[in-house]
Amino acid sequence: MRRAARMQVVGTETAFEVLARVAEAERQGRSIVSFCIGEPDFPTPEAVKEAGIEAIRRNETHYSPSAGIWPLREAVAVHVTQTRGVPVAPEEVVITPGAKPIIFHSLLAVAGPGDEVVYPNPGFPIYESVIRLVGATPVPLPLREEAGFSFTPEDLEARVGPRTAMVIINSPHNPTGSVVSQEALEALVRLAQRYDFWILSDEIYSRIVYDEPHHSPYALPGAKERTILLDGFSKAYAMTGWRIGYGVMPQALAEDVARLVTNAESCTATFTQHAALAALTGDQEPVRQMVEAFRARRDRMVQGLNRIPGIRCPVPQGAFYVFPNVTELVRAKGLKSARDLQEALLAEAGVAVLSRSAFGTPAPEEDQEYLRLSYATSMEQIEEGLLRLEAYARSDG
Ligand code: PMP
Repeated sequence: MRRAARMQVVGTETAFEVLARVAEAERQGRSIVSFCIGEPDFPTPEAVKEAGIEAIRRNETHYSPSAGIWPLREAVAVHVTQTRGVPVAPEEVVITPGAKPIIFHSLLAVAGPGDEVVYPNPGFPIYESVIRLVGATPVPLPLREEAGFSFTPEDLEARVGPRTAMVIINSPHNPTGSVVSQEALEALVRLAQRYDFWILSDEIYSRIVYDEPHHSPYALPGAKERTILLDGFSKAYAMTGWRIGYGVMPQALAEDVARLVTNAESCTATFTQHAALAALTGDQEPVRQMVEAFRARRDRMVQGLNRIPGIRCPVPQGAFYVFPNVTELVRAKGLKSARDLQEALLAEAGVAVLSRSAFGTPAPEEDQEYLRLSYATSMEQIEEGLLRLEAYARSDG
């Protein structure tokens, strides 16, 4: 088959591959507890579903402007103004089918061959994949357990310079559930001003925080004119399958990104945009209830994992992932890496998890092993999964 050379550098999300294997194992009659997928198990709130259905009935089933319907751009502008404390105009908002296209289009718009793009490692695998796809050079920014899976100002400073086109941060963070410290955010904005690079702030988990309010670099002086804020509806309103998200960025870049949307997608489904408008402007109680449920599950998951020999699990501050250190368990089982543990857990314990290597290549000096477990699943599944993990850890061999 003829194909372009760039296909050799496109990565993927291992989560989708493991999901397919879980489905296959279940088809064969095996019982699997799945902690591998990053989406809320709750249904989309009723009022949001109704708004989508009503929009279809009203025949909101045609193209919309590429940047999105005006009332939704307005509502996002109001929401971001209120939550980040910086005035935002609707012209600075671009609506996309999911938040993922904001990563793709903003990188296409600002980075290319000869540019460097800094991204978190471990991190959402799509960053590195798209950086390579646009021909830029990926520069991993290590998030170390000792630093609470954040980065230090020194770590960042050592990796940026005149060739840096963009620095990507993700807080709350997939896969560790960490949040970036205020000190690190301030250093980031200072360096962005010094070297004139873009900040892509992936805040898709901004509504899912437990202990402190969400902090965004967008709120810092001097940040707004060089920041692309990514957020959306997938996680906060359990709308992953509707495909809707947004980016907020200076108007000139928003126009570029909208032009890329015209080239690639034309627009986001119009009735989906009406459902999102209802989500953002309607009753926020379903969001609060979902986050409370996640908090209880987080606490149970952390407590349960810390009782299992060979596992040490810090308390994550946001998102719906835990990222336990499993180095001792890997060694006790005579395995080489967390990747082998992931395989053994699926085959022997009937528990699906993802290993650290699904989130970027570990640095050569990295000698600790980690797993990511998503607790966006029922308390019953969490209890059953913890029992299986504990039985596996305590068994011989
Ligand atoms: N960023 C991060 C860090 C994510 O985890 C995800 C979803 N897994 C996305 C972006 C993409 O979200 P969406 O489904 O809205 O495209």
